[in-house]
Amino acid sequence: MEIMNTAVIGAGTMGNGIAHIMAQAGYKVTLIDIKQEFLDRALATIEKNLNRQLKKERITEEQMKSTLANITVTISIEDVSNADFAVEAATENINLKSEIFKKLDVICREGVIFGTNTSSISITEIAAVTKRPDKVIGMHFMNPVPVMQLVEIIKGLATSDETCAITEDFAKALGKTPVLANDYPGFIANRILLPMINEAIFALMEGVGNEEAIDTVMKLGMNHPMGPLTLADFIGLDVCLSILEVLHDGLGDPKYRPCPLLRKMVAAGHLGRKTGKGFYNYGC
Ligand code: NAD
Repeated sequence: MEIMNTAVIGAGTMGNGIAHIMAQAGYKVTLIDIKQEFLDRALATIEKNLNRQLKKERITEEQMKSTLANITVTISIEDVSNADFAVEAATENINLKSEIFKKLDVICREGVIFGTNTSSISITEIAAVTKRPDKVIGMHFMNPVPVMQLVEIIKGLATSDETCAITEDFAKALGKTPVLANDYPGFIANRILLPMINEAIFALMEGVGNEEAIDTVMKLGMNHPMGPLTLADFIGLDVCLSILEVLHDGLGDPKYRPCPLLRKMVAAGHLGRKTGKGFYNYGC
């Protein structure tokens, strides 16, 4: 099936970025959320990001106009009935995602592939609520979506090779580099990234070095663009904790136990950039 019409479910941080790149690549996009104000905010963000691309001369005014014209927003999931490919990027919650996938399964045509942008939920488990588990696949974009090159493509237990091949081609058509992973907790990116961040927090807790020392060692010594504590603040400490819990529960190995200092900071509401305070202060 040729992909022309796409749907993105969830218009938050990731959903607006995914809709942006799909529309820019020439696909018609139906972007869905539960409230009109969330859709208005998503459209405003897409326009702001397109304006930035325009100023940097990465796109023309014509491309900006056609990208915006390719996006339709709606609060009714029934409006995805013409989609040839759907990507879910709603809140990270298994019950909520299960409900969405059950509805998509009824609304969309038989051959349509469903991607999920989940960071930590099992693709196999999400696929199992549908009657098309062979057509459900992880499509894990990185934040910010218009900027980051990688898409992890995650094969659930029942995902077919054909679904993988079509999804890889689709990711390439969106200008991204797909990397194939199997469905184990954290996939590849978070399986490796989160233990590193957790270890940096242990090093801080034990007084091996202060925040600046730990981040500077990783930046200058390992050529990381951002230190692990700065990155944790950027991701959100609550998100880091919940992904570590998934690794710990799913793999059952004590090496993934979340650092007590991380738990304490989350309990205090110091969640990083979004609350103005994490390992660093952001003055808001
Ligand atoms: P977000 O909170 O910014 O956006 C989620 C959106 O989903 C919200 O606008 C919410 O209103 C909407 N939503 C909730 N229920 C819905 C429903 N029934 N139908 C339609 N929309 C609904 O979250 P986000 O950061 O964009 O994360 C979305 C997904 O992407 C999650 O699965 C997350 O794990 C994953 N992810 C996030 C990041 C990141 O850095 N933020 C990176 C990679 C993957």
